[in-house]
Amino acid sequence: MQRIVDEIAEQMANVSDKGSVATYIPQLAQVDPNQFAITVALPNGEIYSAGCSQTLFSIQSISKVFTLTLALGKLGEALWARVGREPSGDPFNSIVQLEHENGRPRNPFINAGAIAVADAIMQGHKPKEILAEILRFIRFLANDDAINIDEKVAQSEQETGNRNASLAFFMASFGHFENPVDEVLGTYFHHCSIAMNTVQLAKAGRFLANNGINPDTNCVVVSSKRAKRINSLMLMCGHYDGSGEFAYRVGLPGKSGVGGGILAIAPGEASIAVWSPGLDIIGNSKLGTQALELFTSKTGWSVFSV
Ligand code: GLN
Repeated sequence: MQRIVDEIAEQMANVSDKGSVATYIPQLAQVDPNQFAITVALPNGEIYSAGCSQTLFSIQSISKVFTLTLALGKLGEALWARVGREPSGDPFNSIVQLEHENGRPRNPFINAGAIAVADAIMQGHKPKEILAEILRFIRFLANDDAINIDEKVAQSEQETGNRNASLAFFMASFGHFENPVDEVLGTYFHHCSIAMNTVQLAKAGRFLANNGINPDTNCVVVSSKRAKRINSLMLMCGHYDGSGEFAYRVGLPGKSGVGGGILAIAPGEASIAVWSPGLDIIGNSKLGTQALELFTSKTGWSVFSV
């Protein structure tokens, strides 16, 4: 496995077109696009990394996997009254579907869906309390108390968040929100601003590769049925309007973030985190996708291989 990840990092270093970093906030626009990291975390505790796997990056939309998991824990199936589970075929920040579908977002991974999920988990609590809970959860999953929110990123998200605010107010206009819109947005912007490295992220994803069980503690995070369902949602919706392409090329459930990270799950085998800040036109990591495609070709660990 170490040889495989080393080879992938070496090949990625030689790719000339590394995509373009997100530019909507300075903290992402200033990141050096020539960075690449991969970490493979196995359920037995083994960790294999290559590249800059200790470098922190903004996990952005990957945080939506963890907030969805928390929301399902709190609301169970009732969550699906508020958000759908179909691929959107539209960009992550699209507003058009919301009107046609009466303010119920297509899935929990597009921005509107994740904002609805943030409202669902708040249940009258203040953003500070909920963010502490989200952080505690991710730290527990990764077995790492150093994980934190990058406050500068959160501030920039807030300052440039007009589109997200539009999505939120539009949903609220249908009477769907239980908490003040600005507090829901504050929660959303801050959980998108959690900073992690690929080791921490791969470790945090292990429960999804291990039938819902955190392998460090043997603690049941979610039932195996729920782990299966979260993985299914990641496969169908985790890369927005690039989800079909990602499934075609990689063949694993995956969730991307505009910071250039991707968390991919090979059920029963491994949780894999990749990071390279250059994005494709849809907003998914260009090298990250390429690296995962190579990884599943080399290991045979796609959900469609036997
Ligand atoms: N914080 C980003 C936004 O809301 C997250 C989007 C993403 O990672 N695709 O625009």
